[in-house]
Amino acid sequence: TTDLHGLTALVTGGASGIGLATAQLLSERGADIAVLDLDPSGAPAPLRAFTADVADDLSVRSAVEGAAETLGGIDILVNNAGIGAAGTVEDNPDEQWHRVLDVNVLGIVRTTRAALPYLRRSAHASVVNTCSIAATAGLPQRALYSASKGAVLSLTLAMAADHVREGIRVNCVNPGTVDTPWVGRLLDAAADPAAERAALSGRQPTGRLVTGREVAAAIAHLASPAAGSTTGTALAVDGGMAGL
Ligand code: NAD
Repeated sequence: TTDLHGLTALVTGGASGIGLATAQLLSERGADIAVLDLDPSGAPAPLRAFTADVADDLSVRSAVEGAAETLGGIDILVNNAGIGAAGTVEDNPDEQWHRVLDVNVLGIVRTTRAALPYLRRSAHASVVNTCSIAATAGLPQRALYSASKGAVLSLTLAMAADHVREGIRVNCVNPGTVDTPWVGRLLDAAADPAAERAALSGRQPTGRLVTGREVAAAIAHLASPAAGSTTGTALAVDGGMAGL
């Protein structure tokens, strides 16, 4: 069933873009939701908001424990918080590599580690990581970001193997370019935002950007009991970019 009444979910980076769309869709399907975000002010009621930086283990632990207490457990964990970086291996200094890997990869490790005791108590436990087409596409000017998402893909498969016998499923979604505030900021910074939007849209065979709601629908499917036999997979939501 895709009905999520009686289930609880924690969504990191849930105050904007893909995370917010996901928190709202899971809520519409009946789940009780907590969002964990650096700045959770963008998450309206009935979403419960917790402030934390996924790069800071203490703040993650206290937010996850607070969310579990407020919700009465955690059945679904959506590891979605992430940051970008542009450039080739010559462009990003070591400090930036450390920061992006700390948020995009170790952020998932910290949040999952803190949530596992609660997931183990759930009869419908599931983790969904927001990966990216960058994990496998070989995109230009995205060396650091691609490496971070490649790690997210491998981590998803490893976590799926480690926890399948505990009844915890782990999957990820691989979005193409999604129309979120993040991409909005990228377009605003471009010399010609309209031309840049057309170029990003044209990279997808569908000829348009992916919507946050479309990624949320894929996450909601993977997170729901209807996907009870699906673990260790990556679901593309990329307008055909990877496959066509
Ligand atoms: P967004 O910037 O609109 O939202 C990201 C949210 O994460 C923000 O609310 C931000 O405050 C939060 N966040 C960032 N760093 C954090 C941290 N250290 N701790 C806690 N929260 C933090 O971005 P989005 O486009 O919705 O991206 C969400 C995820 O989707 C990211 O993992 C991104 O890599 C992935 N993704 C995005 C696209 C795209 O085209 N937008 C494509 C593929 C994958």
